[in-house]
Amino acid sequence: MIKIKNLVHEYIRRDENDEVTDITKAIDDVNIEVEKGQFVAILGHNGSGKSTLAKHINALLYPGEGSVMVDGKDTRNTENIWEIRQSAGMVFQNPDNQIIATVVEEDVGFGPENLGVAPEEIWQRVENSLKSVGMWKYRKDSPNKLSGGQKQRVAIAGIMAMHPKCIILDEATAMLDPKGRLEVMESVKKLNEVEKITVLHITHYMEEVIYADHVIVMDQGKVVMEGSPREIFSRVEELGRLHLEVPKITRLAYELQKEGVPLKNGILTEEEFIKELKSAGVV
Ligand code: ADP
Ligand code: MG
Repeated sequence: MIKIKNLVHEYIRRDENDEVTDITKAIDDVNIEVEKGQFVAILGHNGSGKSTLAKHINALLYPGEGSVMVDGKDTRNTENIWEIRQSAGMVFQNPDNQIIATVVEEDVGFGPENLGVAPEEIWQRVENSLKSVGMWKYRKDSPNKLSGGQKQRVAIAGIMAMHPKCIILDEATAMLDPKGRLEVMESVKKLNEVEKITVLHITHYMEEVIYADHVIVMDQGKVVMEGSPREIFSRVEELGRLHLEVPKITRLAYELQKEGVPLKNGILTEEEFIKELKSAGVV
């Protein structure tokens, strides 16, 4: 679905005389491959280059060096831009900036309408997308009345209605409360499992990584770790050095393990933790 090869991105600042005053290497020789149907989480603290990477996948930015291929199409070729933007839909952090219409169902229909989809097909898509994120019963409501989590689900339905092959969430849960985050994550997981949509979930919430089947950790524009959630969560000290804190339950299991309690590496959930404690004969 996505193939990124030796990508470099530099932000160049110039003064009023067009002299270069500052260069930030936001992406520094990144190689990433995402298979169709995968759910990939991208982790990294602020400024590690996650949003810059996301913008490359949506052809909002173009490679300085290297290449980005989305569904076999090169983002450097300007003829591909619209197809790429349609096959890779983006959901951003602030739900309020992404909703434009005054009625939920109209907002979701806006994308396919812009693509020139026939009206009866639009309504079918609106219905399917709203149902798949659990927002169908709010279709006649004003988006203003919805919670943050509900608004993000409407934004996701709007992307879904354009039938993308891949959806990129750039810290789409960052402004939500725990309940809203859970709602969004459950909806996205379902889209991935049921509709087989490829998901790229950018986040700094470690506990959201458990939804993914592959995790990429970024630091200073580079991919510094890659693996399954369990592999990544087993590397507690290394993550700490990258200012990434593992979930409390993973940390607790790790500390107990260090004290000699025989637990497996990278415990991700409470259920798993309790099961492990029982089989270790601790409780
Ligand atoms: P993240 O999403 O992980 O927080 P970003 O991709 O937003 O990281 O930023 C990576 C680096 O690029 C940071 O050092 C940031 O300050 C810089 N940067 C991001 N956007 C711009 C921009 N428009 N102009 C100049 N520098 C930028
Ligand atoms: Mg960002």
